[in-house]
Amino acid sequence: MKNSDIQAIQLLLATPKKIAIIPHRSPDGDAMGSTLALYHFLLKLNHQPVVIAPNEFPEFLAWLPDSETVLIFEKNKETTTKILQEAELIFTLDFNALHRVGEMENVLKTLSVPFIMIDHHQKPDDYATHTYSDTAFGSTCEMIYNFIDFLGQQNLIDKTIATCIYTGILTDSGSFKYPKTTGRTHRVVADLIDLGVDNSEVPNLLFDNHSYNRLQLLGRALQNLKVIPEHRTSYITLTQEELDTFHYVKGDTEGIVNYGLTIKGIIFTAIFIENKEEKIIKISFRSQGDFDVNQFARDHFGGGGHINAAGGKSDLSMEETIKKFEDLVTKL
Ligand code: 5GP
Ligand code: MN
Repeated sequence: MKNSDIQAIQLLLATPKKIAIIPHRSPDGDAMGSTLALYHFLLKLNHQPVVIAPNEFPEFLAWLPDSETVLIFEKNKETTTKILQEAELIFTLDFNALHRVGEMENVLKTLSVPFIMIDHHQKPDDYATHTYSDTAFGSTCEMIYNFIDFLGQQNLIDKTIATCIYTGILTDSGSFKYPKTTGRTHRVVADLIDLGVDNSEVPNLLFDNHSYNRLQLLGRALQNLKVIPEHRTSYITLTQEELDTFHYVKGDTEGIVNYGLTIKGIIFTAIFIENKEEKIIKISFRSQGDFDVNQFARDHFGGGGHINAAGGKSDLSMEETIKKFEDLVTKL
């Protein structure tokens, strides 16, 4: 982050302010971890922060400290719009373009207060007054740790803040496996553990706390897994009917896409999840090595993300979407 930005932000934070902190739509562990870490940090600086998520966050993140204070825009548009209009400063975390907050974008566009973006996605838009964007980092949470350090406030990181930061580093790094995990990531994590993070309990709460239905849904997803060996590709489909059969709740499909890459020789995988209410097929892409799924998602499915993990959507039917995907894969 540029020195001039740090100084300007220090000035902004020098007096107590009403601050809105915003994660992307369908927030994941990194989005919720980073926004709540910043929330707890700003509370300690005597500000009045509030996290406003565009829509619901998954149940498996509901144990995060103070997650019950998070307001959901799509559930309470009037109140949250008013809070956004009264905010004196806005942080947008873990996304690179305003459309990633869905309908909330219309409100954000009307605001004239300073925006601060902290994010690790490729090709950030330049809507923010101060942008701290770096694709070298595996998570926004690791950048929040840096951000607090840049402000010279590292001593304020307590167990609560550390736990939120740890959550995003853990989830976005695939439990420290993905290539952007560095020695420094581990040194930050070591520091977080020294600050009291329970590094045995947190993964347990995140990954080993599923419902029976979720496991049955995973079973169905794995049965639906198709392999195109000649293109080293695999994919999974889940229809709305299948989701309904297993009483799907938000978060149940999290991480399932990764199974497609665990087959020997497969370097590209996708999961297609039907959403009847939104009339779309939500897609997640994953790759191993050089194949850039961010570009693939941008070019063909109106999405984006990172080189090895991206998402997008399709307005076509499941059959048509799969046909389109298979045709594209044959041309790769
Ligand atoms: P996931 O597949 O876990 O939902 O997302 C993988 C990565 O791609 C995340 O960094 C996420 O923010 C990004 N991503 C997911 N869906 C979309 C999308 O529709 N548009 C864009 N631009 N990025 C997405
Ligand atoms: Mn992230």
